[in-house]
Amino acid sequence: RAQEKDDLETLEEKASHPENYNSSKFFADLPLSEKTQKGLAQCNFKQMTEIQRKGIPLALAKRDVLGAAKTGSGKTLTFLIPVTDGLGALIISPTRELAVQIFEVLKKIGKAHTFSAGLIIGGKEFKVEQERIARMNILVCTPGRLLQHMDQSVGFTCDNLQMLILDEADRIMDMGFQNTMNAIIENLPPHRQTLLFSATQTRSVKDLARLSLKDPEYVAVHEKA
Ligand code: ADP
Ligand code: MG
Repeated sequence: RAQEKDDLETLEEKASHPENYNSSKFFADLPLSEKTQKGLAQCNFKQMTEIQRKGIPLALAKRDVLGAAKTGSGKTLTFLIPVTDGLGALIISPTRELAVQIFEVLKKIGKAHTFSAGLIIGGKEFKVEQERIARMNILVCTPGRLLQHMDQSVGFTCDNLQMLILDEADRIMDMGFQNTMNAIIENLPPHRQTLLFSATQTRSVKDLARLSLKDPEYVAVHEKA
């Protein structure tokens, strides 16, 4: 236990110098817990994609990140890896299907960790979710259902939230969740880290970024012509 704490402090110190990882190509080069390294190796994730090489070291250094890269570029691991090595994260995804996909990857790469993760997407009974939601370290949610719990679930608070992830921000906005997102963000502690990912940079994504991020690092991967 004590050994584990020392190791985590060393990792945190290393992670606070993202410039040292500018030329890292492999997940194994990053300052990640052994548990996360083990989960990645078991999934056969070895070499990072470009958005991962640029984004993960900044996210580990606790910077806010606005990540722009097309579909299929590997944005999910860019936020899930910093999530597994932290505690207290809320991941917002536009649809149930996408939330389930994220949850499945999280379970795989987080296998060696002892955190508890929950899926809050409606469809299941509200009461069942209410019983579980207060005990979770990591929640993967759709916007409407999350706001419903913020309004109605007594034991549920986000006061200790460390990380907010907004995935597929363009689709969240396209689906008309502007007001829902405003209300959610108003309920969150201002001292938190936020990572926002989007395949396209629309006007409404910029509005959401302005509302949710503080002095973000802009990390973009452009398609080669
Ligand atoms: P995006 O969210 O950018 O659309 P995903 O994160 O869903 O993309 O990743 C697309 C696919 O690439 C997934 O099947 C994922 O398992 C795979 N993938 C992501 N990162 C890596 C990696 N570093 N090595 C191998 N495969 C990867
Ligand atoms: Mg994605």
